[in-house]
Amino acid sequence: MQELSHWIDGKHVKGTSGRFTDVMNPATGEVQGRVPLATVAELEAAIASAAKAQEGWAATNPQRRARVMMAFGDLINKHMDELAEIVSREHGKTLPDGRGDVQRGLEVIEVCMGAPHLLKGEFTTDGGPGIDLYSMRQPLGVVAGITPFNFPAMIPLWKMGPALACGNAMILKPSERCPMTSLRLAELLQEAGLPDGVLQVVNGDKEVVDGILDNETVQAVGFVGSTPIAQYIYGRAATNGKRAQCFGGAKNHMIIMPDADLDKAADALVGAGFGAAGERCMAISVAVPVGDKTADALIERLVPRIEKLKVGPYTAGNDVDYGPVITAQAKARINGLVSSGVEQGATLVVDGRDFSLQGYEDGFFVGPSLFDNVTAEMDIYKEEIFGPVLSQVRAKTYDDALKLVKDNPYGNGTAIYTADGDTARDFATKVNVGMVGVNFPVPVPLSYHTFGGWKKSAFGDLNQYGPDAFKFYTRTKTVTQRWFSGIKEGGEFHFKEMD
Ligand code: NAD
Repeated sequence: MQELSHWIDGKHVKGTSGRFTDVMNPATGEVQGRVPLATVAELEAAIASAAKAQEGWAATNPQRRARVMMAFGDLINKHMDELAEIVSREHGKTLPDGRGDVQRGLEVIEVCMGAPHLLKGEFTTDGGPGIDLYSMRQPLGVVAGITPFNFPAMIPLWKMGPALACGNAMILKPSERCPMTSLRLAELLQEAGLPDGVLQVVNGDKEVVDGILDNETVQAVGFVGSTPIAQYIYGRAATNGKRAQCFGGAKNHMIIMPDADLDKAADALVGAGFGAAGERCMAISVAVPVGDKTADALIERLVPRIEKLKVGPYTAGNDVDYGPVITAQAKARINGLVSSGVEQGATLVVDGRDFSLQGYEDGFFVGPSLFDNVTAEMDIYKEEIFGPVLSQVRAKTYDDALKLVKDNPYGNGTAIYTADGDTARDFATKVNVGMVGVNFPVPVPLSYHTFGGWKKSAFGDLNQYGPDAFKFYTRTKTVTQRWFSGIKEGGEFHFKEMD
């Protein structure tokens, strides 16, 4: 069993707290490593040396910092298969999905290669007689990234890329369930030329997160995880005067109109509902067909597709559709929610509860489940299941379907399948959700746009990656300047009017 470390000042550093947590291989159910949980004293030492390193990094010109991003991007490409294997080994997702996890993170690093362009300021010449104004974007100092288990490469890369390209130092606190990918990314960043101390990976749990939130040097917190923790972190960070953007959980609906291509909609639902075992914040977990005819036809198409799904370990390569869930507790919770759906009156069309895989009986595999006749009062509708469970809620009309999505407390992603541009346009305009797909099931925006939900899926006012990230990780300073050409009258006692 591997004993993992922190990554401090460019080196692996053993934990001193004596507290550890197990890192599982979800496919086998075995413990593959243990990760140290840092104390607040360890965290504070890491922050202090990050603050020192940040001064030199901020003084490094943006183009040179961008070159580190270029070299980092090259190294990620070179180590793509290795990184995907680490992701799959600690998370459980299939190898092609592991590569997708790394790839969608790499795409944000690619945008960071153009950071100088995004960091340019604004200039007004002759705002008044002989008076010029310029605004510059300066790094914040030391910032923190706190990330979830479900994208061990992508989300740490979404955090570290923009934060570092802007000239900040970062304390990255990855999920204690999937810390290995972040540690490897830190090594690659060092190889790419990042000065030691600018990225510190401090492993830990609530103790270290609270330490980050209460530390005066840390200027900003970027969090991704479940809604209750997102809300908690946003509140405590804001109370302590920090900038915070905290992205939370989701319940994503797909509306299927009677005129939709139902085969395409069924294919999309199976991929978006069961891919990565449903452990995606952009997974579609609720299908909302409009009209009973559409609903019946959809179920008819979904069942054979779901029964064909291959569930297995990542070591099977391209041969599996999805892998295990993250822990034995997650498996028990998902199966419990499926049982609650049956008890509360939903129709369980495909039952994944008793799934077992020969040779992997101890792995955390959950078979796919499909529910019909789900209502908004049931727990399977109200809870983010975060597992391979798709619920069908029947809507009578388009307006009922739209209302269902709008009334849901989450607002991360949603989709509509239709052949009618007018309906699609109406939906995209009216729905109160941050990311919308039109005949597109998982509408994660490309890296030069931005990613963020509405309602209880995000706390804070700027999205992650894209131009918003460069605003989040910098603060604006505006200089009003005048150069005297000769001897001028004395002091001024009123605000200068720009006449
Ligand atoms: P989580 O909230 O349990 O953990 C996220 C991070 O918070 C981890 O680093 C963890 O150590 C820390 N944490 C956990 N409990 C804490 C506590 N009580 N106090 C302080 N810190 C704490 O989330 P998870 O299970 O790792 O990830 C799955 C969740 O993340 C899902 O809800 C999913 O929808 C969400 N998610 C959201 C997005 C998005 O961009 N909106 C993206 C991916 C995942």
